[in-house]
Amino acid sequence: MKKFKTESKKLLDLMINSIYTNREIFLRELISNASDAVDKLYFKSLTDSDVQLSKDELAIHVGFDEGARTITISDNGIGMTKDELDKNLGTIAHSDSQAFKTDNAEQQGDDIDIIGQFGVGFYSSFMVASKVRVVSRAFGSDEAWAWESDGVEGYTIAEAERAEHGTDVILTLKENTDEDNYDTYLSEYGLKDLIKRYSNYVRYPIQMEVSKTREKPKPEDAGEDYKPEYETYTETDTINSMIPIWKRKKSDVTDEEYNEFYKTNFHDFADPARTVSLHAEGALTYDALLFVPSRAPYDLYSKDFKKGLALYSSNVLIMDKCEDLLPDYFNFVRGIVDSQDLTLNISRETLQHNSQLKAIARRVEKKIKSDLENFLEKDREGYEKFFENFGRGMKYGLYTSYGTAKDVLGDLLLFYSAKQKKMITFKEYVKAAADGQETIYYATGDSVERMAQLPIVTTVLAKGYDVLLCPEDVDEFCMMAMSDYAVPDAADPDSLTAWPLKNVGGENLGLESDEEKKEAEETAESNKDLFEAMKSALDGKVEKVAVSTRQTDAPAFITTEGGVSLKMEKILAGAPK
Ligand code: ADP
Ligand code: MG
Repeated sequence: MKKFKTESKKLLDLMINSIYTNREIFLRELISNASDAVDKLYFKSLTDSDVQLSKDELAIHVGFDEGARTITISDNGIGMTKDELDKNLGTIAHSDSQAFKTDNAEQQGDDIDIIGQFGVGFYSSFMVASKVRVVSRAFGSDEAWAWESDGVEGYTIAEAERAEHGTDVILTLKENTDEDNYDTYLSEYGLKDLIKRYSNYVRYPIQMEVSKTREKPKPEDAGEDYKPEYETYTETDTINSMIPIWKRKKSDVTDEEYNEFYKTNFHDFADPARTVSLHAEGALTYDALLFVPSRAPYDLYSKDFKKGLALYSSNVLIMDKCEDLLPDYFNFVRGIVDSQDLTLNISRETLQHNSQLKAIARRVEKKIKSDLENFLEKDREGYEKFFENFGRGMKYGLYTSYGTAKDVLGDLLLFYSAKQKKMITFKEYVKAAADGQETIYYATGDSVERMAQLPIVTTVLAKGYDVLLCPEDVDEFCMMAMSDYAVPDAADPDSLTAWPLKNVGGENLGLESDEEKKEAEETAESNKDLFEAMKSALDGKVEKVAVSTRQTDAPAFITTEGGVSLKMEKILAGAPK
């Protein structure tokens, strides 16, 4: 018996028990190796005219034997010689695939898509197996060799039989214990599920014998009361869908295909409202396929909701929901990002460099923003519906970003215009503003109808200025975070003027003329005693009683001073709306 060529016992133990959070990824790793082996052979056929090969025959096969407790992963790829078995599987952290990838870097992504890189994936099989046997025959050789190990002491290599080139990895699963059940992997359903989850987009067919039922042919002499009989039979099925839809040219994919992909992968019954695809090349090459759902998932506004995009590296799933790829205010976006350039950590469950994610996230954000702007411009009705579903989250996101997201969100928000009686953007507000106006007015309150009646609103409207009516709790926080809206100069679009957002419930709107101001001062002076009497009658309930310059039918009204409005005070006090 040969010993592993490293401080193997400790290292192997570490490998098996510490680096992976999820032991079910063993199948992902073995299938990835099989795919690499097939890829290498395919590449050989492209570069070596002596190698005659039909691409259709290249495949990976997964099978199981419940009685023997084995799972077998077979490929008809490049195979390994005796030496290669020794070197590749006997040395932990030795990756021939990484070397292959480096040697053929230019072809990576086009002709080949090698997944392996760390030289540890294979050992993940010992998380579930008490014994692993690898039977391999190298392409072009007529010998086959079997490598075998229990993952503890070392391994043996012995002569074996194999009809064709390729490799079989045979796992004998561990016995169940009180805590651990390995039997799920010994079922058609369990294996299919893992293949679909992690390896759905591996480039070669992953086949399995699956059992099916069919109706037996009706006998010719069947009488009136014949009941159809059924039988089970097995058939070889390809489990993975292979072609990642995001790698196909947008013009080659129909809307139906995108919709179908969305619905099956993101468990929605309805078609998405928007489908956005993105292909980036350069220092970091990646594809992204993003969807805006047409309705909010039931848990969107609950604490348990997890945002994120699925992250793939060379067509293999790395993370289900990578949070870092989406800002909070676009948390409703679903989709995937795939890149062969990611520097993964050794377990291939996360990334080593967050800067790569950041770069992708920035681009994704920009793309979503421009798509939503387009949506708003081209399909107003659709956008308003979208905003009903997801606007609250965007407004909340603007607030939690302390306004830093206002460049992204400023043109995507809609508010109800008291004057135009419909939802409008800040841009539209500014466009319809009165001559000389340089302020955006808004009101907060319980309902649009009630706000429209308030003297604080009607007095501003009477001056010819529109007021945005904001009934949602989040609105005021959002407006405060936004604080102003940058408006390009008519003459010089490069110079921007910041229009402040002002709550009409605040005291000083500065809308009165000098004359009105003077008149108010005089009235205040001559009624000083009355106001003092009113203030002491309302002691503790009001800060002061004063004359207003606002023209209104109402005999009196309440305003606030400082940052906290009445509505906000209610929210902060936790009062019901
Ligand atoms: P990695 O895939 O990251 O290189 P692994 O531990 O998964 O690391 O595999 C180690 C090496 O073993 C691979 O680089 C490859 O050379 C070889 N290997 C593993 N599985 C197969 C296979 N099915 N066919 C041919 N070679 C294989
Ligand atoms: Mg591997």
